Amino acid sequence: MNIDRNSVRRDNETKSTASAALITPLNQIKTMPQQTLEASKDQLSGILAPLSDELRRHLYYTLGHYTDDGHPHYYYRALATAVRDRITEPWQATQERIAKTDERCVHYFSLEFLLGRSLNNAVQNLDLDEPTRDALHQYGVALEEIVEHEPDAGLGNGGLGRLAACFLDSCANLRLPVTGYGIRYEFGMFHQTIENGRQVEGPDHWLRDGNPWEIERHEDAKTIRFYGHTERALDEQGKPRTRWVGTNDLLAIPYDMPIPGYKNQTVNTLRLWKAEATDVFDLEEFNSGNYPDAVVQKNNAEQISMVLYPNDASENGKELRLKQQYFLSSASLQDVLESWVAKHGEDFTDFGRLNCFQLNDTHPASSVPELMRLLLDVYHLDWDSAWKITTQCMAYTNHTLLPEALERWSVALFSRLLPRLLEIIYEINERFLTDVAKKYPGDVALLRRVSLIEEGDQPHIRMAYLSIVGSFSVNGVAHLHTELLKSGLFADFYKLWPEKFNNKTNGVTQRRWLSHCNPGLRNLLNETIGSGWESDLTQLSKLIPFADDASFRERWKAVKLENKRRLADYVKANTGVEFNTDAVFDVQVKRIHEYKRQLLNVLHVVHLYDRIMRGETKGMVPRCVLIGGKAAPGYHVAKLIVKLINNVAAVVNADPKTKGLLRLVFFPNYRVSSMEIICPGTELSEQISTAGKEASGTGNMKFMMNGALTIGTLDGANIEIREKAGAENFFLFGLDEVGVQEEKKVYDPNAIIAADEEIRRVMELIEGGQFNEQEPGIFDLLTKGLRNPHDPWLTIADLRSYIDAQTEAGETYLDQEKWNRMSILNSANSGWFSSDRTIAQYADEIWNVKPLENA
Ligand SMILES: *Cc1c(COP(=O)(O)O)cnc(C)c1O
Repeated sequence: MNIDRNSVRRDNETKSTASAALITPLNQIKTMPQQTLEASKDQLSGILAPLSDELRRHLYYTLGHYTDDGHPHYYYRALATAVRDRITEPWQATQERIAKTDERCVHYFSLEFLLGRSLNNAVQNLDLDEPTRDALHQYGVALEEIVEHEPDAGLGNGGLGRLAACFLDSCANLRLPVTGYGIRYEFGMFHQTIENGRQVEGPDHWLRDGNPWEIERHEDAKTIRFYGHTERALDEQGKPRTRWVGTNDLLAIPYDMPIPGYKNQTVNTLRLWKAEATDVFDLEEFNSGNYPDAVVQKNNAEQISMVLYPNDASENGKELRLKQQYFLSSASLQDVLESWVAKHGEDFTDFGRLNCFQLNDTHPASSVPELMRLLLDVYHLDWDSAWKITTQCMAYTNHTLLPEALERWSVALFSRLLPRLLEIIYEINERFLTDVAKKYPGDVALLRRVSLIEEGDQPHIRMAYLSIVGSFSVNGVAHLHTELLKSGLFADFYKLWPEKFNNKTNGVTQRRWLSHCNPGLRNLLNETIGSGWESDLTQLSKLIPFADDASFRERWKAVKLENKRRLADYVKANTGVEFNTDAVFDVQVKRIHEYKRQLLNVLHVVHLYDRIMRGETKGMVPRCVLIGGKAAPGYHVAKLIVKLINNVAAVVNADPKTKGLLRLVFFPNYRVSSMEIICPGTELSEQISTAGKEASGTGNMKFMMNGALTIGTLDGANIEIREKAGAENFFLFGLDEVGVQEEKKVYDPNAIIAADEEIRRVMELIEGGQFNEQEPGIFDLLTKGLRNPHDPWLTIADLRSYIDAQTEAGETYLDQEKWNRMSILNSANSGWFSSDRTIAQYADEIWNVKPLENA
């Protein structure tokens, strides 16, 4: 680190006096309890000194750091704490306004929030860049170095979790009264390393050094119950009541994280629950002398919030996972209901009108029966009133068309773990099926199809159906995805309730995914079209005329080159491989999954390698291919794909003939903070899923904003990206969704391979063991899959079209004027893909919420 020795020494000499002056007089604090809240707030706001003093104060007093050989980690902690102090006041003010408002409030329930780092975001949104740099200057350190010491908050798998994080940012930017609810996992998304080409998972103990952004609120703890059984009895008024008794209880402790809006004095809350044992020890155990066992029992409770399940787009079925889901639902609903009762008493007449719960996929779907349970058993509403309220305030977002990702929980497990909820689900189902039978008399097949219970040897609860029945809104996340939900997966429900279904095409926040991660482009944009795009991305369209301005194109290219250099350094540091910045940077980063078809990408790289070996390099553009992403630890095929990428990379990069023409790397431990470096340096964005499988994609949007061109299929939001960018500025290939359905009837990959010389050579290279000389046969599973007529991903069907589109992209790149023009137009037309637009639509069309009034 670049520490200015002189400034540190000067600092030391004056430390004792300087520090002493930083303490607030005690009387100012002592008198607080006597003051009214308003008065004390005024006094407190005066307490904060200039940021540089606050940084010094936290280093010395908060962290006890008084030597000058400090680890930069201390600067991070002290700075983060000082910045958080700056957030406290607008945060409290915003929360007071939310508590007081007579307008509707939204509660966003998600098992995942893939936040990444918070420091830079907070500095930017609070407009503290200058003071922060000045404050750090006294220690001779740069903000860019310090932010690196913040661990990513990796509380999510991929797109779904990152979407939740972008949504919170946009809600705060739009001053909407929205609170996020999630789980404070002790261990986030696993850390990925590569050993001998294979993925190795390590723990992500992101909280090890503490989390300066969170505030524990023990006073708002909730009791969560599991197991036990139900009893029915008459209450004092002679009404039948159900009691859930003999339960195993634990506590949910909230930790609040601030979500600052963009320079607008609004700070929303993300409330994350941690599981703890109740203070009540198991008395029996305790009395029988089993004190140690009773203490161990305490630890078991904490397992619920211990680890994020690392499965993306696949269900999991583990009991602990169901516990996590219910834990989140119950704690969050109790929280909202208790605040309601504190303000309105036990009159729930307006509850449904003034509250909305947005369920991020079916993970929090137990919220439907849990809200019913709380209203029925705790607040003693009758069924019809409780159901009316529930269906007035629940809204469900679907994220996948893959049948293997649709959550189903076994009735047996549910009845053991959550017996009262199962009873309620059965009653919801009975009433629902009665209604359906009235509407479609005699259609028994329909009843079986839409039942919330899938019958069989082991009956299961269909969580997506439960969510649809319990919600007033069901949305998909891209136009095509929503249409496919209506015509396929949820067709019966669409027929029953067409009015529930709507589309909300995903978006990403330009504050993180353009302004923060691409300072070079931010500055160029601000000089060219002003800075309004930071809170209104549609203003990027002002760039359109500049695509025809040669001098602007030069500046555009220079910014990209600088970002490519930064990415090349990052690749070198993390993989040892040199990326030549003259080459086109061709990138595919996302979870490793068969439907996303990283295999297709590898087949193309092998094809390029084959061409190089044959000496057919005429017109070939130099290419640096980067692939990154995590495979679910139990997903064998995905892990094998990682191994293939690494093995192909090793052979290609070691062959002298590829020098200056081709490089391939597998980038390890892909996460939010690495995307912040990867996406600005990318020129070609790979969005190559089998049509009809990717719900939306959001990585595609981040790349587009940063001026990458997309090579992609007509899938998810790619379709909308192509529409906005213009077909001439997009490299399209492959079957569309209808084509996929048709091809499946006649698919014969072996015939395709045999008939296409270049494809045949690619398969022969892999099958001949060119990339696994030391480990014969290890890729057979992959090549057999490619040759299987029932391959659901149709990789070979799209390969020729993909190779041709890649060739076209390469030829286009050789015409740099043309490429840069296309690049500018992609960025200029990306305004639609701001999550501000997405959230404005949720607010208008689902939530019916308005921005908070200024204080
Ligand atoms: C944006 C993002 C994703 C989602 O990428 P897709 O290409 O849409 O699957 C996943 N992981 C991280 C870290 C991201 O930033």
